[in-house]
Amino acid sequence: MDGRKTPKGVYFSLDSIVELLSNKPRKKVSVGFRPSGQIHLGNISTLLLASWLTHYLGTSTTELEITVLDIDLPSESKGKIAYPFKYIKSPLEEYPNLAAYSTAKVKEFMSLVQAEIGINYHFNWLSDIQSTVKYRNCLETLIKERDTIKKILTGDESKNRKIPIHPICPKCHTVTRTFPVLAKGKNDRIEIEADCNNEACDQKRYKFDLYDRNISISAHYLINSIRDIVTEPQTDVHVYGGDYFESHAGELSKVEKAKKITTILANKTDSLRGTKVPIYLIGPLFYGEDGEKMSKSNLKGLTFDELKEHFANINQGKSWVRRTLEFVKYLINERVKRVDYSITRQHLLGGDLTKGNLN
Ligand SMILES: [Zn+2]
Repeated sequence: MDGRKTPKGVYFSLDSIVELLSNKPRKKVSVGFRPSGQIHLGNISTLLLASWLTHYLGTSTTELEITVLDIDLPSESKGKIAYPFKYIKSPLEEYPNLAAYSTAKVKEFMSLVQAEIGINYHFNWLSDIQSTVKYRNCLETLIKERDTIKKILTGDESKNRKIPIHPICPKCHTVTRTFPVLAKGKNDRIEIEADCNNEACDQKRYKFDLYDRNISISAHYLINSIRDIVTEPQTDVHVYGGDYFESHAGELSKVEKAKKITTILANKTDSLRGTKVPIYLIGPLFYGEDGEKMSKSNLKGLTFDELKEHFANINQGKSWVRRTLEFVKYLINERVKRVDYSITRQHLLGGDLTKGNLN
């Protein structure tokens, strides 16, 4: 990421955003989280960054929307049949599924954040957003503009009937990660044909109308950001983790791709005419003890539960949430883009926090 030119509308610090939106009477900040069970420091920091921004924009004028990406797919399932988080079993019986289990943890965390900095926030679910007419309108535009969008996503210039969305089999709730194809619809209806490759399912190939809300539609994760323009009120700032400044299949960074796609869909969808694409705030990128980017397989003491336990044990008179808040504030103030494990060790896990006092 070093030396990469910052795209227009993408920020790394809070002050410029606060100034930019200072005259807007009501503001909305959006952040998403993948309810994969293993919530780690990177996820927590993105939520905290969004919380700080909401706090600075003004508690009485700004709301924070946290979207649970419950119909996203686990990343390790690439190329395979997969269940979205909403249909994966919870490790604890009292929750109906993994998404609900992970969300309960994040809700606990956010109530502690609120107790520290008093922000106005609410949760919503991607599975609800995808069933709205406006979201489907966006998907209709996406289908019409599929060649351009596919090129932005993958660099692939070929023209075919494949589309970058992932319908969820209505019978077994799995997603087969092949691109579905456009079928012939009657009376201008858009029909889609998809496969279910789950051997245990008796539905092999199914056809559905794009506006059939009995079929849930999961999308490529860079298309998910269209929720910013289909929910009310529309999002002013979308907060992403540091990996969104990295490239993904080609020259463009993930945030540039999300922005381009959202711009096309906002401009070309009738029901969204006049909708503004949000600005983006990117948080720092965290590295693990082994120098690799922090991921689910590379956590070592930095999951939600482990952080909580760590601070319960050393109890230095501060809640773990307050310590983590101060750590994130330190990173923002110092404009740190890349957080090596030594920084985390020094400022969060070990020594005193001498910088980044609250308020
Ligand atoms: Zn099936």
